[in-house]
This record gives sequence, structure tokens and C-alpha cells, in this order.
Amino acid sequence: MLTGLYRAPAFYRRVEQALAAAPAAPFEIIVLDIEYYTLVCDVFGKRAGALLLQALGLHLIGMPDAHCGLMARSADDIFFFYMPAEVHFVQKLSASVSDFLDSYPLPIRMHALLGVYAANSADIPPAQMCDRARLALNIRGTVREDRIGYYDHALQEHLLREHKLLDDIPDSLLNGDFRMYLQPKVDMLTGEVIGAEALVRWLHPELGFIPPDEFIPLLERDLSVYPVDCYIWEEACRFQAQRRAAGLAPLPVSINVSRCDLYQPDLPQVLDGLLKKYDLTPRDLHLEVIERAYTEDSDRIFPVLSALRASGFCIEIDDFGTGASSLSMVADLPVDVLKLDRSFLSGFPDCPRHVETVRCMVRLAKALGLTLIIEGVETAAQAEKLCALGCQYAQGYYYSRPRPAE
Ligand code: C2E
Ligand code: CA
Ligand code: CA
Repeated sequence: MLTGLYRAPAFYRRVEQALAAAPAAPFEIIVLDIEYYTLVCDVFGKRAGALLLQALGLHLIGMPDAHCGLMARSADDIFFFYMPAEVHFVQKLSASVSDFLDSYPLPIRMHALLGVYAANSADIPPAQMCDRARLALNIRGTVREDRIGYYDHALQEHLLREHKLLDDIPDSLLNGDFRMYLQPKVDMLTGEVIGAEALVRWLHPELGFIPPDEFIPLLERDLSVYPVDCYIWEEACRFQAQRRAAGLAPLPVSINVSRCDLYQPDLPQVLDGLLKKYDLTPRDLHLEVIERAYTEDSDRIFPVLSALRASGFCIEIDDFGTGASSLSMVADLPVDVLKLDRSFLSGFPDCPRHVETVRCMVRLAKALGLTLIIEGVETAAQAEKLCALGCQYAQGYYYSRPRPAE
């Protein structure tokens, strides 16, 4: 009633009829979502949102190709389209709705997000085709610059794999499939090991070795990284206790604390409990927190980190230089160590500008009384030049790749 378009159930029925009439013709199911529509409703009210949808409905019906296929509105700002492939409707829709949104008289910039399911047979029900188009819309990474995501076999495989990984975590935690690897941090002047970073690896019983870059971001999105991190933290504590029992000199192990972990109310108790269980002190563990955690929600993160630091943990800012913290903010961060992101070494030491940038970071850390660790040192030439610039500590393949803890 609002937009003059079909609702979803009628749309599905019409699509079925259209497919029955021309079973072999290739076609596309397209889903349109208006990014920031919810914000518009929140700021200007439901009525402003309804007016927007109504105007958009009229706009869509007025598009030159509208009569070639079918259009519907499913939920609030979700629109469905069924179009013969030869119309090449997606690009036209993208351009047309973008123009509409750009000129719509509201001070919030809205965007059209599009998901496409391209089919050449009616082998699955229309509702499921719409679901698939929607999946393409929601997946980060497939939404390209033109904000059109395509559902394809690769995306389906990818989603199934993600689903399986999330599903298998509890079993893998029980079965010890997650392993702690360690990568040394070294004093470049003496070659001595000054500590190590604990890095998780997943030895999946069916899928084999899975690197953390694949599953950690997935777990963070799913808000389920905490149990895995707690498991690795415990491995690190067990390792430290074994070293002490063997009479080895104490060296800190740095554990990665995901941004999501910092929102867990029992985080201090969990860490404290682990120290007690293995008879360790906070000096045995360093906590690595990525720089973006500081900048994204500093009001909530600062107090947590300040408290952990006050209880004796050494806090390291990880991937420093990638999170766009303003330099003025760095002076106030509750931290002890800056870990300079390895991207700083991409053109180092051959490119003079890269050398100057690193030189400045070294001076910044010194001026603030912070320890600087350079990540990603891969060559002797890099290590030499870094020493010449006054860097002392590093982590990188040149010294050692991450290795199984034992
Ligand atoms: P990160 O914390 O920045 O860890 C350093 C990454 O750089 C590691 O990748 C390490 O293998 C890699 N690296 C070290 N030296 C070099 C080098 O010289 N050259 C190159 N090209 N790479 C080097 P890894 O182990 O694959 O881990 C990737 C990321 O996954 C980590 O980045 C961290 O953000 C995350 N991660 C790993 N383990 C854990 C964990 O237990 N918990 C959490 N929350 N995140 C973890
Ligand atoms: Ca780290
Ligand atoms: Ca890092």
C-alpha cells in the first residue's frame, strides 16, 4: 500500500508464473537495500522513512525498464526485483537509485546496496533465490565499489565453510585442535630473545591447517573469539609454568587480546584466575591490543586497559600505525610498548621516505618513554638499518617464523 509495489508473497507467486511461462530464459533476482535508512528513521522519525520509501517506490515504477520484470518491497527498505538477464537491469538500477538518493532532500547520505542472484533455471523456489541475493548483499568483500554483490558458487562455498568453522569450534576446543605457536621477540643488538608472541593455529581434523587470518576475523564478527583466546592464554600460562619448573629464566609471553575480549566483564577475573592457577605474575604475560581498539571505542576501552595495566600487565599496542590514532592521543594511551606494524617495512630500507618515517616513529616512541618493537623484519639489511636508526627490538621471519610452542 505504501509504495504501490507487490509484497513478498505475491512477488514469489508472480515470479513462479513468469518462470513457468519462459522456463529457459536467463534472469536475475536482485535485492536492494538502502544503507542508513534506519538512521534516517531514527533521526527524522518513522514518517520521514515512510515518505522516502513511497517516493522511491514511485521512482522505481517510473524506470524505463520497469515493465520488463517484477518489483516488490519485502521489509522496510528491502526491495526485490525479477528481471530478464538481457535487460542488464542491475547497473541501471544502481545508477538510478543512487541519483534518487543523492538528490533526496535529507541531510543524511544514503547508499543503494545491491545483491544479485543470476539464474538460468527455476531449480529453486523464488524465496530462496531472494535469500541468496540477500546473502551477496550482506557479505563484506563482495560488495565492491559499485556496491553490487553477486551470489555465486564461490560465495556459497565460502559461506558454508564459515558456517562449518563456527560450528566446529566447541569440539576443536575440547579436542585440542587449536595450537599455540610462538614467535620470538629479539634484541637486534645482541640477538638475544626477549620474549615471544603467542599465535593461534587451527589444525582442523578435516580441513587441515587454518591460519588465524582466516578464522579470527570471522570469530570476531560472530563475537565468539573469547573462548578461543582464553584457551590460548591458558596454553601460554601452562608454557610459562613449565619453563619455570625447568629452571629457565623468566621471559614474557605476549598474548593477543581481541577488541571483543575487552568488552567481556569477567576479563580481569579470567586473567587473574589463570595467573593464580599456574602460580604466575602479571609480568609473565604481556597483552597485545590492536591500535584500532583504542580509536574505535576509547571511552569504554581506556578504563579496561588502564585497570589491567594498574594490576601489573604490560600493555602493547599492536599493529601501531594502522589505526589512525591521532598523535596527540598516543601520549595519553594506557600502554607501555608500541608494536610498529609490518607495513612500515614494505619499502624499507631502500626507499628514503620509508626510512624517514621509521626514524620518526623511533623518535616518537623515545620521546614518550615507550618501548618500540618493529614487526615483520625479514632481511639482514632491514635489521642493520633499523639498528642504525636506534631501534632495538624486533619480531620477524628474519629471526624466526612462529613455531610450535615445544
Ligand atoms: P599479529 O598479532 O600482528 O601477529 C603477527 C603476524 O605477523 C603473525 O601472523 C606472524 O606470523 C606474522 N609475521 C611475523 N613476522 C613476520 C615477517 O617477518 N613477515 C611477514 N610477512 N609476517 C610476519 P599470523 O600468526 O598469521 O597471525 C595473524 C593475525 O591473527 C595476528 O596478527 C593477530 O591479529 C591474529 N591472531 C593470531 N593469533 C591470535 C590469537 O590467539 N588471538 C587473537 N585474538 N588473534 C590472533
Ligand atoms: Ca599480535
Ligand atoms: Ca601486529
